[in-house]
Amino acid sequence: MKYVLKIRNPKEERQFAHRLFLYRSVLFRWIPFQLDGKKEYQPIVDCLNVKGRKKRIQKVYEEACHFVDSYYKDKNLCDFQNGQCLSQRVHHTNKIDGCCRGCFYRTGGKCPTANLACKLFYCATVREKNKTLTMDEIPVLRCLSPCQRFILKSDYFSSKGEVIRDLYSGFFLAPPRIVYRQVVSFFKRKRQRKRQERKSLLPQRND
Ligand code: SF4
Ligand code: SF4
Repeated sequence: MKYVLKIRNPKEERQFAHRLFLYRSVLFRWIPFQLDGKKEYQPIVDCLNVKGRKKRIQKVYEEACHFVDSYYKDKNLCDFQNGQCLSQRVHHTNKIDGCCRGCFYRTGGKCPTANLACKLFYCATVREKNKTLTMDEIPVLRCLSPCQRFILKSDYFSSKGEVIRDLYSGFFLAPPRIVYRQVVSFFKRKRQRKRQERKSLLPQRND
């Protein structure tokens, strides 16, 4: 039997927000939900209907990424030109690749993964002229606990799979995992830079 979530007016919205921690809990582990009310709550209800912890985290994460991508679609706030972002051009630096330049994952000038913290990050140069999204404005993230939202906010420079595993690991295991990964990635980047420098010093072959 389905449990009907009535979210039809502001009073019921407040009630739903207060009870959400219960709906997320083990008490509703085997009870499917059905929405009776505002359509914008459907993605939240869909996530609550995914009952396994890891699967739900994954679904919430994907829905949130989709929400952010749709919001910024066609906005082009970083305005990359010849590899340099708006901030790099404004500050007359010779660096390229914007705030991804230090990331181990950056490949061919693109991000091959989906990192929500990175997707939400915008520097002051962008923020002073544009409205940017905050985590509180992504409804589906309410399906995560405050601790998971905190981890999500801080997990830059990581792949989607790593972020999902961090969220699953919880408050005590996630921080050491994140720090360890950043240290490993720092040394990998250093090695990569040295290899590139050595390559550029080699004499060019003219066949
Ligand atoms: S957020 Fe700012 S620093 Fe980062 S890529 Fe965009 S313009 Fe550049
Ligand atoms: S994980 Fe983040 S920092 Fe790394 S390439 Fe992707 S968006 Fe850039």
